[in-house]
Amino acid sequence: MKMNRRDAIKLGATGVLAAVTATTISGCSSSEAKPKAEEKVNAGGTKKILGKHQVVVIGGGFGGLTVASEIKKGNKNVDVLIIEKNDAFMSCPASNTYLGKLEGMTLGKFVFDYAKPIEKYGYSMLKSEVIGIDRKAKEVHTAAGIVQYDILVLSPGIAYDYETQFPTWDKNKIAHVSRVAPGALIAGGEHIALERLLAGMEDGNVIITIPAGKFRCPPAPFERACMIASFMKKEDIRGKVIMLNPTNTIAKGAAFKEAWSELYGDMIEHIDFATIQDVDTETKTVTYIHKAPTGEKDPVTDEPILKAVEKKLSYGVLNLIPNNKVNSVVMMADIEVTSDSYHNVVMNGCSFQTKTDANIYAIGDVVAHGIPPSGQTANWAGKQCAQEILFVLEGKKYTLPVQTTPVAAGNVCYSMVGDKPEEGILVTHDFSWNGSVIAGKANVPKDAKTGKYRSQGTAKALHDWYRGITSDLFS
Ligand SMILES: Cc1cc2nc3c(=O)[nH]c(=O)nc-3n(C[C@H](O)[C@H](O)[C@H](O)COP(=O)(O)OP(=O)(O)OC[C@H]3O[C@@H](n4cnc5c(N)ncnc54)[C@H](O)[C@@H]3O)c2cc1C
Repeated sequence: MKMNRRDAIKLGATGVLAAVTATTISGCSSSEAKPKAEEKVNAGGTKKILGKHQVVVIGGGFGGLTVASEIKKGNKNVDVLIIEKNDAFMSCPASNTYLGKLEGMTLGKFVFDYAKPIEKYGYSMLKSEVIGIDRKAKEVHTAAGIVQYDILVLSPGIAYDYETQFPTWDKNKIAHVSRVAPGALIAGGEHIALERLLAGMEDGNVIITIPAGKFRCPPAPFERACMIASFMKKEDIRGKVIMLNPTNTIAKGAAFKEAWSELYGDMIEHIDFATIQDVDTETKTVTYIHKAPTGEKDPVTDEPILKAVEKKLSYGVLNLIPNNKVNSVVMMADIEVTSDSYHNVVMNGCSFQTKTDANIYAIGDVVAHGIPPSGQTANWAGKQCAQEILFVLEGKKYTLPVQTTPVAAGNVCYSMVGDKPEEGILVTHDFSWNGSVIAGKANVPKDAKTGKYRSQGTAKALHDWYRGITSDLFS
């Protein structure tokens, strides 16, 4: 059976689109990339061996696209294949401005097709879902067949962990809730589903639930509250945006609190220590446990004593953002992960090589380094990782950078907080190679003139940053 156009986009190092045969999707200049005659049965029952590549990257997102293009920039003869399950790329960064209906931020600003970078850089791409990894055989099993590798890079992003968070929910309830109360933290249809719910809403509250533990882009839910409140104001929808946060931690907290109160008054409400327990989608009611201060203090620790009370809230639109964990592709690789519920990939010291397997690298939201899970970080890590891999492929030993001076603003993360005029806030992270991990130190600056965290200049910088990073990946 032949693979069709949707199964694989194949381009050689020469940049010429070539026919895809039944046995290979290799678009490589390497002589190793010949199809194998043998057949195997993989986890999905597919027998095809699709070909071997020097570098196989799982995930065509921020990290995966960067590492692939950077390797090709460093040496165009290296044979690189990306395996990606989606037809097109959709950006999570800046997507809250789409929910806020900011001028010009229509869906078309967030969707990109892969053809241009494939043409430009000459890597190959297989459009298929990874369903297994056999590290011993150095094989990635996909729904379309088996791909062999010398070096594997994991950049599959995150998954939701409804199962642990809501142990009483069965598969049907999880599927139903994810449809009617989309998390919109993973690229694809979820952002569109949430936008449709908001566009169709009558008066009422929008509830956003904040995940517990590590999650993708920690400022994103708090920025979303601003953008949804701004949308409701513009559309004259009466109601509040209420955030239920299982902790009292808010990324860029002081800056968001300033914007919430000064731009939206009591329209935005953030409830600390509020953990969602259940949702009734018929009555549109969320049940949560609120740990509220009793007014007394613990005589030993001097901490306020909290009392847990069950409460209910009704909603017009629910954005239930479930707890996050690494994408299941990481588990398929059977490599060491951290014991917390997120399961970060344990790295080989300060590098992007995994601790378990010298032939497997990891970047993006899955790494255990102390750097934030952001698109900017994934882009930066992709560049670092590409350098490591190029060294290895040239038979040289990669020496980790000895960084006495931190990399200034290795991560910059903007959040839009206002519209008409657009105003934004930002956080920067300086990265340093710190013993066994790469660490990030955060700074949330204020505008020198106004003394406020938010400014119109930062809103403009957000648009510039977004144009810059998407152009780095797609043009
Ligand atoms: C609302 C929101 C706002 C954000 N704003 C910002 C921002 O302003 N700045 C910033 O820097 N970051 C921001 N981020 C974070 C950023 O989107 C992520 O940190 C970044 O996408 C991580 O890159 P990644 O490569 O690890 O994962 P991704 O970009 O998610 O890429 C993973 C890819 O792997 C693919 N994949 C997964 N499983 C499989 C499989 N089994 N088989 C094949 N393919 C698979 C996926 O389809 C996806 O394309 C934001 C995120 C959200 C949700």
